[in-house]
Amino acid sequence: MMGKHLMMEQNYWLTTTEMPASNGQGSLPEVVDVAVIGAGFTGLSAARTLAKRGAKVAVVESEAIGWGASSRNGGMVLTGMKLGVNKLISMYGRERTQRMYAASLASMDCVEQIVREEAIDCDFIRCGHLEVACKQKHFDDYARQAEVIAREFNHTLRVVQKHELSSEIGSRIYYGGMVDEVSAGANPARYVAGLARAAMKAGSEVFGRTRVESIQCDSRQGTAGWKVSTSRGSLWAHDVFVGTSGYTGKATPALQKKLIPIGSFIITTEVLPEALARELSPRNRMIYDSKNYLYYYRLTPDRRMLFGGRAAFFPETDQTVRKSAEILRRGMIEVYPQLSDAKIDYVWGGTLDFAFDIMPHAGQLDGMYYAVGYAGHGVAMATYQGQKIAELMAGDKPENPFVGIPFPGAPLGLYNGKPWFLPFAGAWYKFLDWVS
Ligand SMILES: Cc1cc2nc3c(=O)[nH]c(=O)nc-3n(C[C@H](O)[C@H](O)[C@H](O)COP(=O)(O)OP(=O)(O)OC[C@H]3O[C@@H](n4cnc5c(N)ncnc54)[C@H](O)[C@@H]3O)c2cc1C
Repeated sequence: MMGKHLMMEQNYWLTTTEMPASNGQGSLPEVVDVAVIGAGFTGLSAARTLAKRGAKVAVVESEAIGWGASSRNGGMVLTGMKLGVNKLISMYGRERTQRMYAASLASMDCVEQIVREEAIDCDFIRCGHLEVACKQKHFDDYARQAEVIAREFNHTLRVVQKHELSSEIGSRIYYGGMVDEVSAGANPARYVAGLARAAMKAGSEVFGRTRVESIQCDSRQGTAGWKVSTSRGSLWAHDVFVGTSGYTGKATPALQKKLIPIGSFIITTEVLPEALARELSPRNRMIYDSKNYLYYYRLTPDRRMLFGGRAAFFPETDQTVRKSAEILRRGMIEVYPQLSDAKIDYVWGGTLDFAFDIMPHAGQLDGMYYAVGYAGHGVAMATYQGQKIAELMAGDKPENPFVGIPFPGAPLGLYNGKPWFLPFAGAWYKFLDWVS
């Protein structure tokens, strides 16, 4: 039971930093080279790159800077993609999958380089990630996956047998694990705040509390471009970059129809005694389990257990957040009975964006640039796609294997952007976990 302890419905990470204020004041500029929609990792990384290349950039964000998933996530900077490598090879063939995997590794370096170059104080640490197997057959598959990843992508994962697992995690419920030493951890709110400062330092203007309401083709003095209408007036942009992820709305209807918003929730405990924290996660890994309906968890830099999962399927509301806290606490105690008396200090939720094929997608749709579809695997990939699409817009030909892959809409095209089927999707995922 959570007892009388006061649990705050608040994002813990935001208590560790202050988001920068908008540097765009008053009315919007009349004309810009690029209007970026959304001030998260994707939009800010793009804005930083574009401004460094000399473009006049306005980032337009409907809430505060970093308000979306970018300040709310688990801070796991992960290699790989949401889908497993065998599935990827079956979908895209070996050559493109090799390039995708290489891009996922490059995305790690991209984050590290930005953190270093911009001196962002966000506790970035290459502590590695640990995937833990909830079933024997999931574990049996680890050796096969590690073999494919070594052979096809020249990247080493280490399979950890059940009897060795206590060196990695203080839980007895798993059948073994797999470690990737290249993955990292960070404080996402500090990271997105630093990215925003870096974009501003490079010359972008960032306008918070400015909602884009519509975007229309509009040529100006013979030049093709866009009229971007917002709650603060309109501006004309030569190009538009959409980085609205799980919060994509009706201002970009074509993109909205291709994305399913899914709620994910996180609790954090009180600060734990050092010995207990070490017992729970001796190597400070970023940990997630092998289910579709998965749990992900880690220690925070100040030694709280941060425990997340898709506890409820609808995007966050006060009700789903509170319900999720209790569901997640029970999940956490199943993994770590040692935490049955630990107090829960914070709970919050955020929205993930899933494409119908669970892949990241980037490029151009209806003439606008975009990068979306990170499926809970977006800290590194969003930063990377923001940079790569910005390079493309600046006239380079950057390597980006996610551009040009098919971007499927809903089966039969029936989806209108309102996720009426999510309760069924939730039940379906649970069913898959039960049978697979
Ligand atoms: C609870 C949770 C845990 C997660 N954990 C991890 C993790 O541990 N590791 C990992 O790799 N990934 C994780 N993710 C995913 C990761 O956080 C996202 O993929 C990433 O932050 C996406 O960044 P973004 O910039 O594309 O979108 P966001 O950060 O969501 O930003 C989009 C912004 O667009 C704005 N916007 C939307 N519409 C408009 C409009 N019309 N006008 C103006 N602005 C608009 C929104 O207000 C929002 O701020 C998690 C996500 C959640 C929700």
